[in-house]
Amino acid sequence: MAGERITAVRLGSRIRARAEAAAVEAFTAGTCGHPDNGFVSALDPAAGVWCPGCGDDPVRDLLLTYWCLMCEHPARAGLTQAEAGGALVLLRTCGCCLTADSPNSP
Ligand SMILES: [Zn+2]
Ligand SMILES: [Zn+2]
Repeated sequence: MAGERITAVRLGSRIRARAEAAAVEAFTAGTCGHPDNGFVSALDPAAGVWCPGCGDDPVRDLLLTYWCLMCEHPARAGLTQAEAGGALVLLRTCGCCLTADSPNSP
């Protein structure tokens, strides 16, 4: 995961629901077993919960994903992270989906 840009923003409720669903699915699939695990890919939650050392494949797949996970628009640059269900879920989304239904939107 070295050198990749990860952005923290206030997320909308739709994307948080997506992240929570991914976290549940990943914990059902299992963890890599290392003490610093806690990362989940929203693109492939069936890969389970992994640590940075085990996350090369799911992170690469995320970074190679051109499209937003939630609509048909191109994703914004970098990864988005969302805390959900005790994990840190990594997502690719466009700018609109990132903050859709945010409690802070006008
Ligand atoms: Zn691991
Ligand atoms: Zn989108």
